[in-house]
Amino acid sequence: MLEVTSLTASYGAVRALKGISLTVAEGEIVTLVGANGAGKTTTLRTLSGLLHPSQGTITLDGHRIDRMNPEKIVRLGVSHVPEGRRVFPGLTVMDNLQLGTVGRARPGRQSILDDLERTFTLFPVLKEMQNRMGWMLSGGQQQMLAIGRGMMARPRLLLLDEPSLGLAPVLVQQVFKTIREINAEGTAILLVEQNAFMALRTASRGYVLETGRIVLEDQAATLLDDERMRRAYLGAKIDA
Ligand code: ATP
Repeated sequence: MLEVTSLTASYGAVRALKGISLTVAEGEIVTLVGANGAGKTTTLRTLSGLLHPSQGTITLDGHRIDRMNPEKIVRLGVSHVPEGRRVFPGLTVMDNLQLGTVGRARPGRQSILDDLERTFTLFPVLKEMQNRMGWMLSGGQQQMLAIGRGMMARPRLLLLDEPSLGLAPVLVQQVFKTIREINAEGTAILLVEQNAFMALRTASRGYVLETGRIVLEDQAATLLDDERMRRAYLGAKIDA
């Protein structure tokens, strides 16, 4: 479904991606793990059209998308949930969710209601809080809202940037459970995480990014057993 080949991206003189290649198949969960500054966020920003690559190609179902603008890419079914729970604090939960449909071509009222219902099934707490303002939600609830808004675009591929960042352990479990539920309904997911242990337990395959290069790629179960992975990313979590 998604194929990234030899992708290079820069911020001025800073080369953040130095020729990465990866794929996501229909209905798959793939994770991209790596330390701070490895280039994970830049990868997602390039895939969703917020940043144009300097070299390399991105294809979705065989069609090049690497020169398209973000609106067009959303319309093709790729939805990006950025890092940092970017909800609109001055809008209600309901308004935040409805904004998720903006990229869709004239969705009918009934289809929006159906999608809201589906989102509320995934996140019952959002239904209870639908009339509250974004700023009134806790960190975990804001993360749910950010993912829920991403789902309102009806994506075939969801790009998730650090959904577990800064959440209490019980909420981290809940977020990963929701990721599996979204995937079970047929949405492919590219999951960027610093929590490599949880990400690899959730995904079927994984890529490890270090300073703009992919240094390891394999089945998630194999990466969980990999000696280099254990030393660099998993030590504390596995020993604990
Ligand atoms: P984090 O978990 O901290 O978000 P990351 O793996 O997502 O890390 P990126 O944010 O993609 O990493 O950053 C990759 C590199 O690009 C880093 O060296 C970072 O300093 C640099 N970088 C990121 N954003 C910018 C920017 N707006 N301007 C200049 N350099 C940037």
